[in-house]
Amino acid sequence: MKLIRFGDEGKEKPGVCLYDKWYDVSGFIRDYDEQFFANGGLPHLAFMVQQHETMLQEVSKTTRLGSPIARPSKIVCIGLNYADHAKETGAATPSEPIIFMKSTTALCGPNDNIIIPRDSEKTDWEVELAVVIEKKASYVTEAEAMDYVAGYALHNDVSERAFQLEMNGTWDKGKGCDTFAPIGPWLVTKDEIADVNNLKLWLTLNGKTMQDGTTANLIFNIPFLVSYISRFMTLLPGDVISTGTPAGVGLGFKPAIFLKPGDVVELGIDGLGSSKQTLVAYK
Ligand code: ZN
Repeated sequence: MKLIRFGDEGKEKPGVCLYDKWYDVSGFIRDYDEQFFANGGLPHLAFMVQQHETMLQEVSKTTRLGSPIARPSKIVCIGLNYADHAKETGAATPSEPIIFMKSTTALCGPNDNIIIPRDSEKTDWEVELAVVIEKKASYVTEAEAMDYVAGYALHNDVSERAFQLEMNGTWDKGKGCDTFAPIGPWLVTKDEIADVNNLKLWLTLNGKTMQDGTTANLIFNIPFLVSYISRFMTLLPGDVISTGTPAGVGLGFKPAIFLKPGDVVELGIDGLGSSKQTLVAYK
């Protein structure tokens, strides 16, 4: 299944994408939030959609999409999880996953504008595969980790490099600004993705290819990451793990390239759709 949330910001309703059309399921689903996933929402949704398929109300594709999941308790990100990206930033390949947190207020729709924060000069892009958690996960083994995964979504881990790297402390300052987490268009349930470790992911800036990678090059794969993170914090239903970005971020160019108002970023992952964001200045 492909889950969407549609409508104005803060008023999104749940829907599904079927045969490339969008349908409203708000008649029987409240939202795609922690309670939804925790209470068997995915199998319930599949059943209800099957029962009501011919009666579902179609949603116009001119409607805004929000994030396909409601605001989660956590967005956990993995740093430097592709060797080529670690190299371009001048960092060593990590021997254990680097974990940082992205504030949940950064979440926005897949095609919303990205706001360049006040005093930002180094806003940058990162196409990433995001994992959405279905069941509460604490100390899960690698072998059972996939039982805790609901599915996957496309994520642009937007980053402000000066805030992240030049202002002391951890990376979090440069990762959590408003609109720095466009997710979607869809949450794709894991049964729809045959091999999550072999998906192409790409990103263009103003039509020019900047990132062109594959999840086959992840240093730490998804079962390992779910298990690893669950040693340090409890993952709740609906939580997001963003698995890192391949080479081709603006910071990696000589000289570096950073985003400015009017720039357009497009990104996509095989099977997870594509998204497009226009950069605007903070007002
Ligand atoms: Zn990232």
